[in-house]
Amino acid sequence: MNSPDYLLPEQLLSILFRSPNATAVYTGDDITIISANEAMLKFWGKDRNVIGEHFINALPELSGQPFLDILKEVWRSGETYIAKDYPAIIEIDGELQHFYFDFEYKAICNENGKTAYILHTASEVSERMEARKMVKEKSKAEQQLTQDLVDLNEEYIVTNEELLHINAKLDAVNKELVYFKNQLQEVNDTLVQSENRFRSLVEHSPVAMASLKGEDFTVDIVNGTILEIWGKDRSVVGLPLRIALPELEKQPFLGILKEVYETGKEFYGQELKVQLMVDENLTERYINFVYKPISGTDGKTTTILVVASDVTDQINARESVREINTRLEIAMDASSLGSTEVNLATGIMLSTDQFKRNYGFSPEENFTYADLFEAIFPEHRERVRGLVQEAIKVNGIYKTEYPIKWRDGSLHWIEAHGRPRYDENGNADRMVGMTANITEKKLFEQRKDDFLSIASHELKTPITSLKASLQLLDRMKNKPFSETHIRLIEQSGKSVEKIVVLVDDLLNMSRLSEDQLKLEKTRFNLHDMLSMSCNHVRMEGKYDLIIQGDQHLELYADEHRIDQVVINFVNNAVKYAPHSQQIHITTELLEGYVKVSVRDFGNGIDAKVLPNLFDRYFRVDHSGKSYSGLGLGLYICSEIIRKHGGQIGAESVIGEGSTFWFTIPV
Ligand code: ADP
Repeated sequence: MNSPDYLLPEQLLSILFRSPNATAVYTGDDITIISANEAMLKFWGKDRNVIGEHFINALPELSGQPFLDILKEVWRSGETYIAKDYPAIIEIDGELQHFYFDFEYKAICNENGKTAYILHTASEVSERMEARKMVKEKSKAEQQLTQDLVDLNEEYIVTNEELLHINAKLDAVNKELVYFKNQLQEVNDTLVQSENRFRSLVEHSPVAMASLKGEDFTVDIVNGTILEIWGKDRSVVGLPLRIALPELEKQPFLGILKEVYETGKEFYGQELKVQLMVDENLTERYINFVYKPISGTDGKTTTILVVASDVTDQINARESVREINTRLEIAMDASSLGSTEVNLATGIMLSTDQFKRNYGFSPEENFTYADLFEAIFPEHRERVRGLVQEAIKVNGIYKTEYPIKWRDGSLHWIEAHGRPRYDENGNADRMVGMTANITEKKLFEQRKDDFLSIASHELKTPITSLKASLQLLDRMKNKPFSETHIRLIEQSGKSVEKIVVLVDDLLNMSRLSEDQLKLEKTRFNLHDMLSMSCNHVRMEGKYDLIIQGDQHLELYADEHRIDQVVINFVNNAVKYAPHSQQIHITTELLEGYVKVSVRDFGNGIDAKVLPNLFDRYFRVDHSGKSYSGLGLGLYICSEIIRKHGGQIGAESVIGEGSTFWFTIPV
């Protein structure tokens, strides 16, 4: 083997030996170590024996590490390889140790450009690496610390933020607290103010007011008006209501207050009657009132405000108006008075039910001003219209009577009066009218008129005949007494009899109308009385009076008057049923009364007129036939029976006859 130094060019050697760094030189494909200075040997942990050896043989521990391959590549390519902080594991004193190197494999070429040597320079940087590592670790620790610090900081920031947040919240809460405090103060002030206002409102209210506190309704605030209604003075303040007004105990008010207190619902009382002790007298008053619950912050009622007004006077006034109205209505109803108001511009007429009825309209029907004039008999229309116009002109009252024709054709009489009413400009705009159906009255008057002419006529007939007889007798007074004298005297007697009957009727009638009919009651046998009655009929011999019934019946009555009734029935039977030979007089004892009936077998009476037979002046029109009479007989009978507390009536069948009856209580 050649000495490596010998083979080295000068330049290379100078580098090799001047270099403070570890240096080695290699050559050949298999990297033979041809030189290495002490520093390099030290790194390797080898001695000079390695020189001349193949690199891998000299340093077997480096197999498996990249150095040989790098060297081979440098050899092949001629390109220098530089490494920094390269790790290597080298066996030192039989121990594998870790090192770090900065090294350079520099290819040194010959003139052909082919690699001739590889100059290996190296410096160990393990310490630096250690230091670096330490620094790194330190920095890692620092980093960790920093990280921790960062984390801590973040946490701190977060916490801080939270703190800030909490602080802000606290701030807000604080502010709210202050606000609430202020509010409370304000509320308190307002409460005090409103309490004062409330007190002043209650005390100065013209309406009766009181406030009742708590569940025993302690009188808290009151005004003079309510004290006046209560009939109490201010000493009731502070007392529970039931002690302040003990008279309320049995009245509904305390109960109502309790209900209001418990439910919180206000109560309105309308015209309720209250009895209050005023000046030691229990007085009755009517009040409208409200119990208004006032609740505290918890919604529970604390106070009840009472607002009341005494409406006693209004109620009394209304009651008397109602009373007057009722009386007026009764009076109007009783007299069939109807009222109406006509709007003169529109002709629209507002009428009461009775007003419509007076004209034959039902209350549901529409009845117009035109209908009214249509109903009036044509010959009366203009007169009525003229009266209405005149009343408007002179602001007077018109009063008239007129006949009307209902839609069913029947005739009725109306008494009407009315007066105009005026609008604010003084123009007549309405006509207020009242009407009464006076048909009955008119018919009665007519019958009375008829009666007067009949009465005078009836009286005139026997008087004329009496007068004639007397004149004849007068002429014959000096002549010897003859048959003619007798006949004239008899005739005069009959005429006088007729006059007496008529005058009797008239007298009875006027007595009746003056209510002077006095009864002289005795106990008598009815059968005996009937046997004696109507002897004039029996004596005439034309009629059979057949008396039927219990012969022992007794009556307590005015015998003469009862006889008068029976005579009237029998006389009528003779007069109106002249062909009925039999006249039955029947007596019956029924429950609590005796019934006497007189039956004839004449033509009978139309059922339509049966109810009117006992009316004053009523006479049936016996088509063609004329019967003397005043239409008073049955009326007088009915009055006699009425005075005895009995009843009177008639039944009849046309063609079969009539039965007239009366009853007398026993
Ligand atoms: P007057 O006989 O004077 O007319 P009354 O009061 O006695 O009056 O009778 C009233 C009417 O009743 C009579 O006009 C007559 O038409 C009718 N009347 C009374 N009795 C009878 C009878 N028995 N049968 C038929 N009509 C009678």
